[in-house]
Amino acid sequence: MLDPFIHLFTTPGGYYLYDINKNAILRLTEDQYKIIEDTQKSDQDDLTYNKQAIESINHLRELGFLSPKRPKEMYNPISETLKYHLNNKIKMITLQITRQCNLRCKYCVYSGNYENRGHENAKMSFETAKKGIDFLIEHSKDNERIFLAFYGGEPLLEFDFIKKCIEYYEEKGEGKETHITITTNATLLTEEIIDYFQKYGVYLLISLDGPSEVHNKNRIFSHGGKGTFEKVMENMEMIMIKFPDYLKDCVSFNAVLDPENDFSCVNNFFADFDMIKESQLMSTEISDIYSKDQKKASDAYISNLRYEYFKLFLSKVGCLDKKYTSKLIWRYYGKLIDTYTRLEMTKELPDKIHHGGPCIPGVQRLFMDVNGDFYPCERVSETSTQMRIGNVDTGFDVDKVETLLNIGKISEKQCVNCWALRFCNLCAAAADELDKLTMKKKITNCNAVRYSVENLLKDICTLREFGEELNSNIMDVADWKI
Ligand code: SF4
Ligand code: SF4
Repeated sequence: MLDPFIHLFTTPGGYYLYDINKNAILRLTEDQYKIIEDTQKSDQDDLTYNKQAIESINHLRELGFLSPKRPKEMYNPISETLKYHLNNKIKMITLQITRQCNLRCKYCVYSGNYENRGHENAKMSFETAKKGIDFLIEHSKDNERIFLAFYGGEPLLEFDFIKKCIEYYEEKGEGKETHITITTNATLLTEEIIDYFQKYGVYLLISLDGPSEVHNKNRIFSHGGKGTFEKVMENMEMIMIKFPDYLKDCVSFNAVLDPENDFSCVNNFFADFDMIKESQLMSTEISDIYSKDQKKASDAYISNLRYEYFKLFLSKVGCLDKKYTSKLIWRYYGKLIDTYTRLEMTKELPDKIHHGGPCIPGVQRLFMDVNGDFYPCERVSETSTQMRIGNVDTGFDVDKVETLLNIGKISEKQCVNCWALRFCNLCAAAADELDKLTMKKKITNCNAVRYSVENLLKDICTLREFGEELNSNIMDVADWKI
């Protein structure tokens, strides 16, 4: 058995090989594909295959393709410069200014359905907030642009506090390009708040899940349990009438998609929703990380979603006007292009490499809770001792940050043999059992990662088959002249 480090896949229109050492995709003929598939199983070259196919495969070997080389170790090269990044390159701090919320969304990570804390009355002190902002400024010397984000609970429960923080941040951040973002449920927005946000160019991310029957299923007030859709719409209308430019420039929406729902109903709502025509719309699926129950997507959800991807691809190859495509999935195309640009040909895999996935914990989106404790981002559990990477008074625990950055180490044996390692998206959160990081928990996600990476590669190749200009590092061996 030759055991080249490759992954074979097909699309309805072609046969492909992804070479992990070369980080390139080759389009094969059916014969070439079958020969390679067979040589993975046995040493015997089947001479019934056509001679030209066999010769072209030998030629590929001469060019360094089909190498069996595996990396020896999972090691993140950023470890070498980690201290520099932590001291000089922090981009953003997210302040958890309150743990209280006026809503009780059923899928909220603080709802009790997740391995996380619940809603409570704790608030951040202004002293702690100032220290957090100072920490950002002092540790971002080599960044022109910095970001301050407010998070909760519901941050707008503390509007006066937010104002004090923004004014302090603008004063301290003078000389830098300062940005501010707030994630809100939009039920507490008033003219006074929007007027203030407009003055400081605060970027608002509003959670809106779809039409009333979908939104109100999950997003309900804490008192009385009534749905919040009507209140959100009332506030949106106020912004649209009184602050249309602010709506266009600074407001975007995030829809949390419940895979147990019908996707098309949410999609139709946003397609007809005039207020957000010019705003950005994003979607995220209900988070599974730390969830006590796994959600299962309904058949209707999957088939409607696939149909929308199909329409998006048609528009990309010029067969459908973009206006007929779903804004909810536009980001998928961005993900495709990102994967495509990462297909950069290399000579071979180095001995030490880390799988894709982890950010530089604390540098990309440092999260500070009400007590001043640090976490890599707002998505990780605040009850996790493993994810607590420092405190605003004592600074970063560099050893812990390094462990999270090198999370591939705990699944090294699997990762060095995994064809998807360059595109894996698992970070330490996937291995987090709150009091320890385990390989067992992490690798329960691996099949899903490989499935989604394979789909990305297939979609890239399919788009190319239909004429999308995606050519670098995808080569047609089928047409090679030897
Ligand atoms: S989810 Fe993981 S990779 Fe993403 S920002 Fe948080 S810690 Fe980093
Ligand atoms: S999918 Fe699993 S085995 Fe593959 S690189 Fe990611 S963590 Fe490692």
